[in-house]
Amino acid sequence: MLSFEQAFFRPAEGRVRAPGRVNLIGEHTDYNDGFVLPIAIERQVAASYAGRDDGVIQFRSAQRPETITVRVGDEHKPLAGSWGNYPVGVVVELKKAGLKLRGGDVLFDSDVPLGGGLSSSAALEVATALALMAMAGQSHAIAGRELALLCQRAENLFAGAPCGIMDQSIAVLGKKGSALLLDCRSGVTRHVPFADPGIVLLVADTQVKHDIGEGGYPLRRRQCHEAAAKLGVKALRDVAPQQARQAIDSGVISGDLAKRVRHVVGEIARTLEAVEAMERRDFATFGQLMFQSHQALRDDFEVSCEELDAIVDAARPCKGVLGARMTGGGFGGSAIVLVRADAAEAASRTIQDAFEKRFARRCPIFATSAGDGAGHF
Ligand code: ADP
Ligand code: MG
Repeated sequence: MLSFEQAFFRPAEGRVRAPGRVNLIGEHTDYNDGFVLPIAIERQVAASYAGRDDGVIQFRSAQRPETITVRVGDEHKPLAGSWGNYPVGVVVELKKAGLKLRGGDVLFDSDVPLGGGLSSSAALEVATALALMAMAGQSHAIAGRELALLCQRAENLFAGAPCGIMDQSIAVLGKKGSALLLDCRSGVTRHVPFADPGIVLLVADTQVKHDIGEGGYPLRRRQCHEAAAKLGVKALRDVAPQQARQAIDSGVISGDLAKRVRHVVGEIARTLEAVEAMERRDFATFGQLMFQSHQALRDDFEVSCEELDAIVDAARPCKGVLGARMTGGGFGGSAIVLVRADAAEAASRTIQDAFEKRFARRCPIFATSAGDGAGHF
């Protein structure tokens, strides 16, 4: 493991952290102005830092070989394919926000798998922002929702990834023992208690990311917007389940668009139902809603893949398993399994065995509870 001293030949002055996340339910609802329900996981990007007086900022990562060097006074340009676009994007946005940055050395180290659908990118951005603000002597200049929006802009504008606001919001606002209900239209958030010692969440990483390019995420977004326009609403959030059924039955919406609408409208309703179930600690109902969510993502939204389906199918018959679904955008990434704590180890083994039998390799699984959002160590 690369230490700060090994990387920069002097001791660190401070250390901050920002967690990865999983979304419990509410998938592909964010760009439809719907609801999402993520938790921060107990895995994180840590950033050790020490300030410098020469205006140079150096970013290093234990997970990447290249050192990224910029100057506070520079005009910054993204570099194709570089991991540095995430932290440098944050530099750009903090400067735009009027923060007077100081130079510094920053070392990242992370146990959130990179590109595993657990939002290592948002964790990296938020950790960067906290480290840069701390070195500038303005640790709390930007916080909460404003900080999440700033980091989202860094990812959208500089790293060139069109993500919604969920990942950065939960990285900033996550709270131990709570899930975060986020209304993607208004930006309003509410913490929902999710702390039961009898229940854990397993996260299974398929370690694949099927690239289906323009046919994947951008196409789904376009189809949703097209369907909303046909229905005369701003976003699919504005369509009630009954209304969606009528539009489909009468042929106003048909084919692929009908399937997309069925998923999104159903998923928004399921997410609100899931919150109610969570509030009364009814994890059996919550788990059923997870299974339904997966089925809709697989059959109607068509963003699952055989690795994700294999995990969910292997989980379903296991003793103590309450629910399972893919999480994140799909086409790979991770699946989550809600399971009774005393059955978690056995379920995990069964899932891994089934996965290995089918794909001739292991699928890493870890257990997590809802962890805290970003902060200083
Ligand atoms: P996810 O956010 O689901 O992990 P993304 O594709 O959005 O997947 O982000 C992954 C990218 O973020 C990596 O390819 C890398 O460029 C960057 N990244 C995340 N964590 C780190 C890290 N610890 N060190 C260097 N780069 C990182
Ligand atoms: Mg990401």
